[in-house]
Amino acid sequence: MLDKKYFKAFQNIVGKENIFDDKAHMIAYSYDATRERYEPDAVLFPKDEFDVSNILKYCNENQIVITPRGAGSGFTGGALPANGGIVLAFEKHMNKILEIDTKNMLAIVQPGVVNMDLQRHVEELGLFYPPDPASEQYSTLGGNVSENAGGMRAAKYGITKDYVMALRAVLANGDVIRAGKRTIKDVAGYNVAGILTASEGTLAVITEITLKLLPKPKYASSYMAVFPSVEHAMNAVFKSLSAGANPVAMEFIDALSVRAIKEKLGVELPEDAGALLIGDVDGNVKEEVAFQIETLQKSFEENGCYTFDVAQEKEKREKIWYARRNVSQCVTVYGSKKLNEDISVPRSKLPEALNKIYKVGEKYGFNVPCFGHAGDGNIHVNVMVDGSNPKQLENGHKAIEEVFQLVVDMGGTLSGEHGIGLSKAPFMEIAFNKAELTLFKSLKKAFDPNNILNPGKMGL
Ligand SMILES: Cc1cc2nc3c(=O)[nH]c(=O)nc-3n(C[C@H](O)[C@H](O)[C@H](O)COP(=O)(O)OP(=O)(O)OC[C@H]3O[C@@H](n4cnc5c(N)ncnc54)[C@H](O)[C@@H]3O)c2cc1C
Repeated sequence: MLDKKYFKAFQNIVGKENIFDDKAHMIAYSYDATRERYEPDAVLFPKDEFDVSNILKYCNENQIVITPRGAGSGFTGGALPANGGIVLAFEKHMNKILEIDTKNMLAIVQPGVVNMDLQRHVEELGLFYPPDPASEQYSTLGGNVSENAGGMRAAKYGITKDYVMALRAVLANGDVIRAGKRTIKDVAGYNVAGILTASEGTLAVITEITLKLLPKPKYASSYMAVFPSVEHAMNAVFKSLSAGANPVAMEFIDALSVRAIKEKLGVELPEDAGALLIGDVDGNVKEEVAFQIETLQKSFEENGCYTFDVAQEKEKREKIWYARRNVSQCVTVYGSKKLNEDISVPRSKLPEALNKIYKVGEKYGFNVPCFGHAGDGNIHVNVMVDGSNPKQLENGHKAIEEVFQLVVDMGGTLSGEHGIGLSKAPFMEIAFNKAELTLFKSLKKAFDPNNILNPGKMGL
């Protein structure tokens, strides 16, 4: 419960219609996709950047902690108000597309704009915003920037950071900063927009985002390739890319996941598939698309692919993608609780990484179905356990820790897209040395000396 005098002060800033501390709101803003729960003391809906600045200034002076929140779809607890305090939510007012500059091919948006709304809006103008996290229908651009979200199209088009040109943000003391410009090139000063991207609400509150746009490609096709084993598929990933293939997406589903999809959804997939690679290619002329398909097929077949299907029509393309889009819910056939991590390794290390990950599963007696964005070296590793069995849960967490260690030993990272938040904070020491962690802490102190912004997240 927020002290009455604080409540009154916030009411004066945002208006009484934009502050809530009733039980229903506290519950509604206590979750994210981790399904952990922490109730805040109040939820505030700022009307604009001026409100955000006044709220932060007041919180900083009174040591009230703040958790910025997008749609609460994060998988690592970034938006959870783990220390109570204020949740700052942007979906009510700060959710506007402010400008589409077609001459300079950029969009300026407020943080609460839903990713898909921007995609649809710019596509009507023949433009394209490529980052498409699977949560695109509801996750916000503020959340996407703060987590540096990736998506299915990352293999060709990169991830959120590749589109952030500039940000406006409010520092913990209420000061407003601009980081970056509308220019393609900008090497004046530190890359503060780069530092704020993926900072998970721990350094500043983002109030405006300038995003690069591309022309919308005119043609696309989808493909599905079947391989006898995960090793063949993983070799095909990096070999086809270094042979010149440039697919929009190159998604991977392993044999355990294929079996789960067949069992749960009754989808027709090859019985003996050791692994699938599924994806899209695109281009502005049909020949470019055909060339991409040929390059992929040739390289895949050199690496053991024995079935390669291509689809151009929307319906057939959707059929190809159906398995990949639904795999996440299907793997629950192997256990009631999914310990899901999104590790990333250099692509050439994929065969070795997958091999070692399965061995960790065998050691503990767990099924570990894996799938994900192989074209980016980013794999969703799912250690499946019986959630009602404490021993299995304990061993599941041990298995995850071993997976993190082997991935880091290979030059990989704890997270390719979901961030650190609360869930992965205990593993930061596996991935970063003392000097690196000290630098993170110094940065945090420079931006937020009183530690009011999302304290405890990312281990800070
Ligand atoms: C079914 C499903 C599929 C998903 N698929 C993908 C995927 O393909 N790729 C991927 O990368 N992620 C994926 N995610 C994870 C999640 O959707 C992303 O991390 C997304 O970027 C979070 O956006 P959000 O608006 O929900 O942010 P939230 O979860 O609300 O917040 C995320 C972080 O951003 C901070 N934040 C939010 N707004 C601001 C702001 N204005 N200023 C400062 N900090 C802010 C929060 O404090 C928090 O730390 C998926 C999640 C689900 C549930």
